[in-house]
Amino acid sequence: MQSRVVIVGGGTAGWMTASYLRATFGDRISVTLVESSGVATIGVGEATFSTIRHFFEYLGLDEREWMPECHATYKLGIRFENWRRPGHHFYHPFERLRVVDGFPLSEWWLHQRPSERFDQDVFVIASLCDAMRSPRHQSGRLFEQDFVENGDQPVYRTTLAEQDTQFPYAYHFDASLLAGFLAKYAKQRGAVHVVDDVVDVVLDERGWISHIVTRDFGEIEGDLFVDCTGFRGLLINQALAEPFVSYQDTLPNDRAVALRVPVDMAKTGIRPCTTASAMDAGWIWTIPLYGRIGTGYVYAGDYCTPEEAESTLRKFVGPAADELEANHIRMRIGRSRRSWVHNCVAVGLSSGFVEPLESTGIFFIQHAIEQLVKHFPAESWDERQRDSYNQRMARCMDGVREFLVLHYRGAARADNAYWRDAKTRTLPDGLAERLEQWQTRLPDTESIFPYFHGFEPYSYTSMLLGLGGIPLRPPPALGLLDGTAAAKEFQAIGDQARDLVNRLPSQYSYFAHLHDLPPERRADAS
Ligand code: FAD
Repeated sequence: MQSRVVIVGGGTAGWMTASYLRATFGDRISVTLVESSGVATIGVGEATFSTIRHFFEYLGLDEREWMPECHATYKLGIRFENWRRPGHHFYHPFERLRVVDGFPLSEWWLHQRPSERFDQDVFVIASLCDAMRSPRHQSGRLFEQDFVENGDQPVYRTTLAEQDTQFPYAYHFDASLLAGFLAKYAKQRGAVHVVDDVVDVVLDERGWISHIVTRDFGEIEGDLFVDCTGFRGLLINQALAEPFVSYQDTLPNDRAVALRVPVDMAKTGIRPCTTASAMDAGWIWTIPLYGRIGTGYVYAGDYCTPEEAESTLRKFVGPAADELEANHIRMRIGRSRRSWVHNCVAVGLSSGFVEPLESTGIFFIQHAIEQLVKHFPAESWDERQRDSYNQRMARCMDGVREFLVLHYRGAARADNAYWRDAKTRTLPDGLAERLEQWQTRLPDTESIFPYFHGFEPYSYTSMLLGLGGIPLRPPPALGLLDGTAAAKEFQAIGDQARDLVNRLPSQYSYFAHLHDLPPERRADAS
């Protein structure tokens, strides 16, 4: 029975894994989490992808209870600024495309072009983001319920049973507060917490991990070891010598500098989206939490020095950045060749990482944990289970890499060496061919196969249409069809968006209201 799980690392990956395993298996397995008090967590990673809601719901956590504790806010999508030209912005929202007469509305948009704003014409969420609205009413009702009650076609019909479906929003949260919250959750459910440094990882004669050695607590034995030690990959890469497959040739951004900026949200409001602003050697993220902004410049060390990057970030933030300490981070871009080797599974940065342009770090963690449960070695070790797990994780990360490369190749911006080089750099397998196809037929499920990486055709389409660097044509068949229904749908989306902007509260007032309530009253706030 492989029932003793030892997790090394107490960052987001470690605590998400500990809580999920305890919630799933209860006392049928033991979970021990060892973390160093001397090695800090990465300290960033605060924007998520919409499937994250499955994670919280699975743990049985009510968002109106945990969100205020983690200074969390809603995220309806990503706002891309200046990727096409200075001053231009568009959204990649969590909203599926509607289909009219068998064609996605995006293709009808290319044919009819009702306005210059593709995102506003085909997605309701773009207008909600511009107007900084909360997706929920004070009563806790979600905006999609308006569609149902008004008799319109609902944008989403998701049920938890359909695990791969997406919700129309994700979260921003303070990563260290969330780790603390999940630590409490896991410990209440029996996870053992050891604060100590792992000083050695001991292998048996087969080359499997037999135990770890900690400085003060001595040896800790286990059956399954989970490496959540971040970029250092203490177990997977160092002890087991699993090679790291770099993505640097296709994604050159390898550094970041970050700031935590307090802001008066009553004055600024809270945007319900992450913002990614294109810069001279990369891009700056802006993540609005309740009470502060997380921001950072992701850049390529070959094009920009750390000093230049920090100065660019400080200028971007303005006087609020004065006196704040900057956190400089070197990023390891790519993945461990296999995430699961013998009796060790890497989860989090030790498994793999791509720049956070689409907020996929925590998504990788969630996907890894869900797959770990599905492949859990209950009775005995089975090589086929490990292979299946490794294949899925590799495909997921390779798929996200491809999607990110598309962001740079597809951006109209080409005003300096960094952006020009992005147009000639190597493309991952098959992307060049698919880009050709997408010029006349926008991405559909089959053409983004073989990857499962959470992104759906609407994501690819949003980026291709928003970035503006790749010429796109509507399918010729649309010229032979009556476009009346499509025109009506554009009109309906505009009407729905205006109506919702009028009726939904601002994101700031929604959370100010929630924070004002005593914690015991938040779950039934209205
Ligand atoms: P870490 O946070 O590095 O934790 C490592 C843990 O291992 C620590 O607890 C440390 O104490 C412990 N440890 C290390 N060595 C030892 C030892 N010898 N003994 C005991 N313990 C040890 N993801 C997103 O989803 N959205 C984002 O917006 C996003 N932005 C990011 C921006 C940047 C610049 C970077 C670099 C990453 C970003 N990520 C983002 C990724 C996200 O931060 C990580 O996926 C997430 O924080 C998980 O990190 P981790 O737990 O794997 O590692």
